[in-house]
Amino acid sequence: SEAMDRIVIVGAGQAGFQAAASLREAGFSGSLILVGDEAALPYQRPPLSKAYLAGKTDARGLLLRQESFFAEHRIDHRAGTRVTALDRGARQVRLSDGGSLGYDHLILATGTRNRTLPVPGADLAGVRQLRSLDDADALRAAIEGIRRIVVVGAGFIGLEFAAVCAARGLSVTVIEAAERVMARAVSPETSQAFRAFHEEAGVAFLFGAGVTAIEGEGGRVAAVRTADGQSLPADLVVVGIGVVPNQELAEDAGLAVRDGIEVDAFLATSDPAISAIGDCVRFPTRFAAGLPGGDRVRIESVQNAVDQGRCLAARLIGRPAAYDAVPWFWSDQGPRKLQIAGLAAPDDASVLRRASAGFSVFRFRDGRLSAVESVDRAADHMAARRLLAAGRTLTPEQASDPGFDLKALATA
Ligand code: FAD
Repeated sequence: SEAMDRIVIVGAGQAGFQAAASLREAGFSGSLILVGDEAALPYQRPPLSKAYLAGKTDARGLLLRQESFFAEHRIDHRAGTRVTALDRGARQVRLSDGGSLGYDHLILATGTRNRTLPVPGADLAGVRQLRSLDDADALRAAIEGIRRIVVVGAGFIGLEFAAVCAARGLSVTVIEAAERVMARAVSPETSQAFRAFHEEAGVAFLFGAGVTAIEGEGGRVAAVRTADGQSLPADLVVVGIGVVPNQELAEDAGLAVRDGIEVDAFLATSDPAISAIGDCVRFPTRFAAGLPGGDRVRIESVQNAVDQGRCLAARLIGRPAAYDAVPWFWSDQGPRKLQIAGLAAPDDASVLRRASAGFSVFRFRDGRLSAVESVDRAADHMAARRLLAAGRTLTPEQASDPGFDLKALATA
């Protein structure tokens, strides 16, 4: 194998940070440079739409590690620096500060960026999104002293944001193009339950609604216009309509991309000197078998970013293993905790398992367990992760029987 004196990581988010930390933990002794275009030390994004937005934790509480960690582990974190181009022939990246860096191995961990609303007025003041700490700071300031918020998109982040704002007594309307919340990610049963939770908390929904324009007054947002001619007054509009992978660096350098940087089971790109991890990659996994997109997926989750960072670090220090982690995810919406294990297709069958508090929806594809959505049922979620990892299934009858011992099956 080749000498690996210098590893450069592009993107200092959850995945890039994890790869750096795991490389050092595993004994990598070469030079390690973590280049990130954000100003802050690497931080966790999930609290940005939860505790941080609600003012329950400060920016220090978001950090993945305090500053001293980077010096102690000889991780050269270049904050506020963007990689602008990739020269594969010379094994070099160009930086926004005019410099360049050579590498023996390059890790792309560039994440995603938010999709923007393609309508007139989308650039008015008061139309915002939530991806970064800067976005969250701007939103924390923006929700002071206003009354009416319109959220475009009933996905995880839009709903988490709506829940925090409704809890503060703000008027919140969520506009969604589909007919239900989290339509791409969860079963109709789970959508229905979360719609009810949010409505009880005071959130209003408009389903099957397209936004045609944002209307302004004096350069600031005033209302959101929908395809059916309604005009919803708004002091603030938050757009949460999904993301696109940051794959241009890879694409411009001639690497294979298709809604994500394409990697193999070992997280290698089509260039053996370049790997890619986290939200920006499309990778093969047994958990995607039978999904509409084939057996390759792009996943946006902390679990995936962390586990891919670890898996890649192990390969780079000489302990290669195919990436085979069970996908799992969580979303906190008001007092409710949603946890998802596995990957469901939209038309996977649903079997409800009720408990005295909370419930789980077991999803089945071709008669096999594909995913489990748990609401305030952490024990079901943990059992589901074990079942899926072991490739063990259960019958729909067992899933729906509250007396059936899931944990025993999962640990058998
Ligand atoms: P990121 O963390 O996005 O990091 C990528 C970094 O690369 C960014 O800092 C980006 O600016 C930088 N970058 C991009 N291009 C360049 C370049 N050319 N040069 C230098 N730097 C570059 N997941 C969950 O599992 N549960 C949750 O509850 C949850 N809540 C979330 C809430 C919010 C508000 C958001 C935004 C995300 C949430 N997620 C959640 C998703 C989770 O945060 C992501 O899956 C995870 O951060 C992905 O890690 P990553 O390293 O791939 O990407």
